[in-house]
Amino acid sequence: MPGTHEDFCSTVLDNMFEAVYYVDRKRRIMHWNAAAERMTGYTRHEVEGRVCADNILRHISTDGTPICHNGCPLQKAMETGEVREAEVFFHHRAGHRVPVHVRVTPIRDESGEVVGALELFAKSKEEETQEDLINALENLAYIDELTDLPNRRFTKINIETRYEEFKRYGWPFGILFIDIDHFKDVNDAHGHDVGDAVLQMVGSTLKANTRPFDHIGRWGGEEFVAVATRVDLDTLAQIAQRFLFLVAASTLDKPEKINVTISIGAAMAQENESMEDLIKRADEKLYQAKEGGRNRVEI
Ligand code: GH3
Ligand code: MG
Ligand code: MG
Repeated sequence: MPGTHEDFCSTVLDNMFEAVYYVDRKRRIMHWNAAAERMTGYTRHEVEGRVCADNILRHISTDGTPICHNGCPLQKAMETGEVREAEVFFHHRAGHRVPVHVRVTPIRDESGEVVGALELFAKSKEEETQEDLINALENLAYIDELTDLPNRRFTKINIETRYEEFKRYGWPFGILFIDIDHFKDVNDAHGHDVGDAVLQMVGSTLKANTRPFDHIGRWGGEEFVAVATRVDLDTLAQIAQRFLFLVAASTLDKPEKINVTISIGAAMAQENESMEDLIKRADEKLYQAKEGGRNRVEI
């Protein structure tokens, strides 16, 4: 059976990014959407049916004046029948003040009479900018700037998570320790900037060919670590072989044609083993791969 028009409206409102509520002519709150819950800390059960003039949100204007009884944008929009916009601060349930941009639209019935108002509020640009900045800083702590890959810190967190799953659900996983062959020669022959470009190229090839549930990160220098979840030794070896030939088949075109190869040490995680031990085993395998002639996998 199809839902009612009201259900439809609720669904639309609850999926909106902006916080929205609407009031009737007496300023009784009729609907409080999910974004409004998130932004204010008040659930719809606490708010719906209450009169917004009960001063739940205790809006104040930018000069600190309470506006609920004098200057309420909802009231004004209903009186004038016009859309109102305002910068106000509301009271969050947790106590702090949140700056918001408010836009109120009068709602009319079929005869054109104003029967209520819809208020849409969004975080002010100031707060958004600060939040964006904080997010960016958080990301920076986990992302390698040159290759745009997760860094060593994040890679370690990923391996720890895999260990948790291994212990709890028995999902096996393995890691690949990947190192570019004779990378020093690339730097020496073409300069550090070209070396950087080669690192980016290798990083991109590895990233583009990592399964969505696996992980690839830059460990440091010209070393990368891949984490493959729910694999056996054969699958881990296949993933390594694929990386090997895909990197060998990648070519930097500018400023000149350069190809590099990688060597890989692979190891499956074992029970009752620390992350350091696992990395050490993979690193030892990598060393063997180098000794054995490079451009190869040791597992
Ligand atoms: P191997 O095949 O044994 O791994 O030889 P290799 O030359 O790759 O190994 P080695 O450890 O001797 O040299 C690694 C070089 O990587 C030395 C260092 O200057 C260079 N390197 C490390 N980080 C960066 C970077 O961010 N950019 C550039 N361009 N070079 C880097
Ligand atoms: Mg190295
Ligand atoms: Mg190297």
